[in-house]
Amino acid sequence: MRRGPRRAFPALSLALSLLLTALSGCSAAPAQTATIFAMDTVMELTAYGERRCVDEAVSAVYEAEDRFSVTDPDSDVARLNASGGGAVSGDTQALLERALELCALTDGALDITVYPLVRAWGFTTGQYRVPGGGELAGLLEKTGYDRVRLEDGTVSLPEGSLLDLGAVAKGWTADCIAGIWREAGVKSGLINLGGNVMTVGAKPDGSDWTVGIRDPFSQELMGAVRVRDAAVVTSGGYQRYFEEDGVRYCHIIDPKTGRPADSGLASVTVTGAEGVLCDGLSTAVYVLGLEGAKALWRENGGFELVLVTEERKVYITEGLEGVFTPEGSYQSTEIKVIRRG
Ligand code: AMP
Ligand code: MG
Repeated sequence: MRRGPRRAFPALSLALSLLLTALSGCSAAPAQTATIFAMDTVMELTAYGERRCVDEAVSAVYEAEDRFSVTDPDSDVARLNASGGGAVSGDTQALLERALELCALTDGALDITVYPLVRAWGFTTGQYRVPGGGELAGLLEKTGYDRVRLEDGTVSLPEGSLLDLGAVAKGWTADCIAGIWREAGVKSGLINLGGNVMTVGAKPDGSDWTVGIRDPFSQELMGAVRVRDAAVVTSGGYQRYFEEDGVRYCHIIDPKTGRPADSGLASVTVTGAEGVLCDGLSTAVYVLGLEGAKALWRENGGFELVLVTEERKVYITEGLEGVFTPEGSYQSTEIKVIRRG
C-alpha cells in the first residue's frame, strides 16, 4: 500500500523545534532540512551537507514504515502476522534479531509480541477499552518473545502470536539514517523522529548538541542533555493514553500482567550511541520501574538514564553528571545520581 501525498506540518514542526534547542546557524555546509509525517508522528531531519543526504534519509524513513508498520497490511510485519511467520531479509531480519536480543536483555519487559494486548486495549484502533481479566489471561497466553523462532531468515510465530516493532522501529530507523549520513561524510546532523532523537557528530560550530527532555507533567522541558553522536529517546505514559472512570491507561503494556505499565515512573529517557538500544530500553525501563532500571543499568553498558517518577523525583545515572541540566521548576528539584557501586 502506498500512502497519499506526503504533507509538511510547519506548525507542529515549530513545536518540535522548541524541544531541540540546538540548531546553530554557523556552518560551512548549508543546513538541509525535511519535515515529514511518518510512523504516526512528525519527523524533522537536518543535515549539514548535500541535499541528497536528507532526501535519502526521507526515503529510509518511508522504507522503514513500509516494512515495520503493524497496521499497514502490506508491511513485512503485517505479512508475518497474517501468516504466522515467513521469510525475512535485510532490515526486517536484522531488526527482529536485535529486538529479540533486547527482549532477552530486559527479561521480557520489552516484548515484541505484545500486539494482541496493545490491540485489545484499543491503542491501534483508537477504540479504547479496559479488557476483562479473563480476556487478558487468554491474550497473555499468546504473548512471549521467547516463543518466536528466527532461524536461517525464517520467522515462525506460535498460533495467535502477533509481532509489534513499535517500541524499536524509530530507534532503528535513526541508526540507519545516521549510518547513511556518516558514510556520506556528514559531520553534523540532527534526526528527530517525533521526539526520538539521534545526533550525528557535533553542532556545526563544533559544540555539543543540546537535546531537551519534556516534563511528563506539563508541556515544558524538565531538562536537557548535551550529547554528540548519540541517541536521546524518551518513553512516557503521557505520550499516548486514555482515561476511564478517573484511571489513566497508557500505551506501554507490562507483558507480565497484560495491563498498562504502572511502575511508578512517569518518563524514561535513554541516551547512548545506538538508537535501537535506547528506543527498546526506554520502553522496557518504563515497565521495569526505578529498581529494575538501576539493576539493568548496573549490569549493562552503552546507555545512561534520566528517570522522572510519578512523585516528580528525578534520577540520573552517573554518566550524565555534568551532561544533564534541569530546566524550569526542576532547577529546584534534587537530582539523585544512580551509581555503579
Ligand atoms: P515506545 O513509544 O518506544 O515506548 O513504544 C511504545 C509502543 O510499543 C506501543 O505503542 C506499542 O505499540 C508497543 N509496546 C507497548 N508495550 C510494549 C512492550 N512492553 N514491549 C514492546 N513493545 C511494546
Ligand atoms: Mg521505545
